[in-house]
Amino acid sequence: MKSVCLLGGSGSIGASTLDVIRRHPDQFKLQSVSVHTNLSKLIDIVSEFRPTHAVISDWDTYQVALSDTRIVNSHCSLLFGQEGLVEIATDENTSHVMAAIVGAAGLKSSLAAVQAGKTILLANKESLVMSGQLFVDTAKQSKATILPIDSEHNAIFQCLPSDYQYGDIERAGISKLLLTGSGGPFLNVALESLAAVTPQQACKHPNWSMGQKISVDSATMMNKGLEFIEACWLFGVKPEQIDVVIHPQSVIHSMVQYVDGSVLAQMGNPDMRTPIAHAMAYPERISAGVKPLDFSQLPNFEFHKPDMMRFPNLKLAISAMSSGQYATTALNAANEVSVQGFLAGHHSFTDIAKINEYVLNRVSSVPCNELTAILAVDEQARRYAEECTRKIA
Ligand code: NAD
Ligand code: MG
Repeated sequence: MKSVCLLGGSGSIGASTLDVIRRHPDQFKLQSVSVHTNLSKLIDIVSEFRPTHAVISDWDTYQVALSDTRIVNSHCSLLFGQEGLVEIATDENTSHVMAAIVGAAGLKSSLAAVQAGKTILLANKESLVMSGQLFVDTAKQSKATILPIDSEHNAIFQCLPSDYQYGDIERAGISKLLLTGSGGPFLNVALESLAAVTPQQACKHPNWSMGQKISVDSATMMNKGLEFIEACWLFGVKPEQIDVVIHPQSVIHSMVQYVDGSVLAQMGNPDMRTPIAHAMAYPERISAGVKPLDFSQLPNFEFHKPDMMRFPNLKLAISAMSSGQYATTALNAANEVSVQGFLAGHHSFTDIAKINEYVLNRVSSVPCNELTAILAVDEQARRYAEECTRKIA
C-alpha cells in the first residue's frame, strides 16, 4: 500500500489524483491533504478519504475550519500554513508526495519532500523553474525519486530508455527531446486582436481543463516555456537539445528522437489521470478511467514551429534558461504577478509578456544555490513586476 500526501487537494490535479486513488483503494491510502481556501472541498475529501492530517494554508479559512464540527468530528488533525505543508510532505508515514500546489507557494513543501527522500510526483513545475539545480542536487543526495506529472515530461519519461540516468542523453543515443504543445486558444487568432482578449477567453483551453493560472500560461505559451526549463532540469539536457513543436490536437504528449532516426511518442486522450496513474503506480501500470484512443475517430495531426512574435513569453523562457537560475526564478515570479494582474483586469493579455520582459531586464544576476537566495530573487522580481504594472495601468 502506498501512502500519499496530496499537496493541493482542491485543484484540478488534486481532483484527478483523488479519482485515481478512489479507483484503487487497495493500492493507495490518502495519508494527508492540503487546501488553501476551499473548506467545503476539504470537508468532502476528509469525509470520503479519511486522511489523518489536513493542512489549510490560508489563515482565515484555517480559523473557520478549527470550529467546523465536520472537521472536528472527523478526527483529522488540522495543521496550518507552509510549516504544516512541510510537516505532511516529510511525514515518515508517507511514501509518495503529489506536489500539486500552483506557483511559488509550492516550492518549500516540494523541496522538503525531496530532502526527506520521498517519491515525489511533480506537478508543480514552478518549483523546478525556481530551484532546478538545488532541487536536483537535493534529490541526488537524499535518493528521492522525482516522477513527472506534467503530461509532456511524463510522456518523455515514458519514451526514454528504462535505465536512463540523469544527463545521459548522448550515451542513450538521444538526439532531441521534442516538447509538444497545443498552442492554446489563440494559436490562430489575428495578432492585432490579442491585446483585447478577456481572461475568460484565455482560460478556455481547446483540449485540457486546468486551473486558471496554467490556462493563461497555456494561452501565452509561458506554460511551454516553463516546461522547457522543467525538462532541462528533469532530464539533465541543454536548451539546444530540446525543440518545441506545436501540435494543436494534444494527442501526442511529447516525443524523444534518437540518433538512428527513430522517434518515440507517447499518445493518449488529453486527460491528466493518465500521467498521474502512470507515476503513482510506477513501475506498474494501473487503469486510470481514461477513454482509450480511437484512431478511426482521430483528427489529422498537425505540427508547426512556434511563432515567437505570437508567443514572446516562450522566447523569454528559453533565453532565461540560458541566462541562469536567477533569470528563470525571476521570470516565474514576474509571470505569477502579471498573470494575476491580467486575471484581475489590471492590464491586457499582451502586457503579460511586456511585464515579464521588464523584470528580466532589471533583475540582478546572483548565484541561486540556496533557498534564501532564490526567495530573495523571487521577491525582487515581484516588486519590479508590480512597479511595471503600476506604470502600465
Ligand atoms: P489549481 O488552481 O486548480 O489548484 C491549485 C492548488 O494549489 C489548489 O489545491 C490550491 O488549494 C493550492 N494553492 C493555491 N494557492 C496556494 C497557496 N498560496 N498556498 C498553498 N496552496 C495553494 O491548479 P492546477 O491546474 O491543479 O495546477 C497545479 C499545479 O500543477 C501547477 O503547478 C500546474 O502548473 C501543474 N500542472 C497542472 C496541470 C493541469 O492539467 N491542471 C497539468 C500539468 C501541470
Ligand atoms: Mg504540461
